[in-house]
Amino acid sequence: MDQEKIGKFIAACRKEKGLTQAVLAEKLGITNRAVSKWETGRCMPELSVMPELCELLGISVSELFKGERIAAEKIEESSNELLLELRKLEETSNKKLLSFERFLIFLFIPVCVLLIISGALIMSAMLPLGIIFMASGFATIIICAVLGLKIEHDAGYYECPNCGERYVPTMKAVVMAPHIGTSRKMKCPKCGQKGYHKKAMVK
Ligand SMILES: [Zn+2]
Repeated sequence: MDQEKIGKFIAACRKEKGLTQAVLAEKLGITNRAVSKWETGRCMPELSVMPELCELLGISVSELFKGERIAAEKIEESSNELLLELRKLEETSNKKLLSFERFLIFLFIPVCVLLIISGALIMSAMLPLGIIFMASGFATIIICAVLGLKIEHDAGYYECPNCGERYVPTMKAVVMAPHIGTSRKMKCPKCGQKGYHKKAMVK
């Protein structure tokens, strides 16, 4: 994906339609600055505004990602490329989510353990402070666990080793399932077999 090329293409299409940055921004309900950032290649339009943006510019989403018009006979080829591109984007964002989860665990778990231990140690001398330390240690552990589980549920899919089905389980299934690393023992919604289902970043 060539962001600079895409930016120039957006600017060219906008001018072709006789729209200023301000007018385009207003129609999309976003700021001028956002439009200017796309056009200078500093960032990509959010997925949520893409369909409307493409409609206003009179281009397809594939053309937007490619940063150029696509000839009719090449449309199928380029929509396959687009799907691959979207797959990569999804993979990267899911990987980021999971590494954030790891960061959370490595940063906060030692802090919690320290809080609980020091709370226990000072409890005999200063009871209220000891209780506060221990309670905040436990509360942080619970918050981390909930956040971690939520991230594991939201990032990517689980793959059934029996039939290869990739699916998003319910939050409840993720919470209740025994796990080894990020693999969870769950029932496959397709074949019904129970087993350890591995995390998969894309469908
Ligand atoms: Zn299965």
